[in-house]
Amino acid sequence: MGKTDILGLLPDELSDFLVSIGEPKYRGAQLYGWLMKGREFEEMTNLPRSLREKLSEHAELRLPKVEKKLVSAIDGTVKYLFKLIDGECVESVVMRYEHGISICISSEVGCPMGCVFCASTIGGKVRNLTASEMLGQIIVASRDIDERISNVVMMGIGEPLDNYDNTIRFLKLVNEEKGLNIGYRHISLSTCGVVPMIDRLREENLPITLSISLHAAEDEARSAIMPINRKYPLSELMTACRRYFDDSGRRISFEYTLIRGKNDSERDADTLIRLLKKYFTDKGKLVPLHVNLIPVNEVKGRDFSRSDKAAVEKFSGILNSKGVNATVRRRLGADINASCGQLRRESRS
Ligand code: SAH
Repeated sequence: MGKTDILGLLPDELSDFLVSIGEPKYRGAQLYGWLMKGREFEEMTNLPRSLREKLSEHAELRLPKVEKKLVSAIDGTVKYLFKLIDGECVESVVMRYEHGISICISSEVGCPMGCVFCASTIGGKVRNLTASEMLGQIIVASRDIDERISNVVMMGIGEPLDNYDNTIRFLKLVNEEKGLNIGYRHISLSTCGVVPMIDRLREENLPITLSISLHAAEDEARSAIMPINRKYPLSELMTACRRYFDDSGRRISFEYTLIRGKNDSERDADTLIRLLKKYFTDKGKLVPLHVNLIPVNEVKGRDFSRSDKAAVEKFSGILNSKGVNATVRRRLGADINASCGQLRRESRS
């Protein structure tokens, strides 16, 4: 029998596991406390040695190891390259905001979705992350900075809805009261638009924030940069988003990466407004939603560049003047190139 991935267990499951290896149930709370602090078995000093030995024999600890760490001199953003149990690497980024500390985590090693502007998809998908490996990124980062992390965004490497079951388990683990206890309202999940999985997620009734990577507001343009659009075109995506909003009451966030000369003209802004108004109008008014404008990060070996400041401001201005709530994402960690999947790429070459 293989070893049990205990970092991926909820408290009751952990107690059941202890019972299954002949240990008393009450040890569960102690063990869970240590696990959530990112401790190795030998560090769990209030557990009897015999139990720690049994754990090494029957359980595995899928805690990522810090392979590389970059700290921004500008704003304190920390970027980690984490090494997983099989030597594969993923990235996480810790950002400091006035409202607390936020972490951007990865959900897969590589990504199968093929968006042309994204570094994470070069080389395709290697494997899913387990729920424990997603949780481990938060635990290890939090231990490393010695501070509580209060917000989680699933916007790192990978497509969370392509790794659905592990993602849902991860969300439950993060939210667990006895553990990290991060409220669903402090968690965002970003997807390129895997429509059937958006519907499944809606049925889970978890009040997380759904972010949609839109990046273009017409099918032809979107299909040219995001292959998923050929499978699930905008009409299907937007209808699924509307269902999500109607059922959950949660304001959806649309990410729109601005690429110079590709999707950043006045006409593009008008097209985006028209699309949002078509699907999100209720009694003549736009329902609450948010557009997050992201000047694209340039990726080595890919031929596109970021929109200039004037174009970004103009685009944002047009949206806001027509009643569409849009903000430009502040670039954190600019000196450490914090927002790309490029550290992992470099580690492999
Ligand atoms: N697969 C998910 C989550 C990971 S990507 C998704 O597609 O949403 C997180 C966000 O970063 C997405 O909006 C993605 O489109 C965006 N992104 C990818 N490459 C980028 C780049 N080079 N510059 C700016 N944003 C990028």
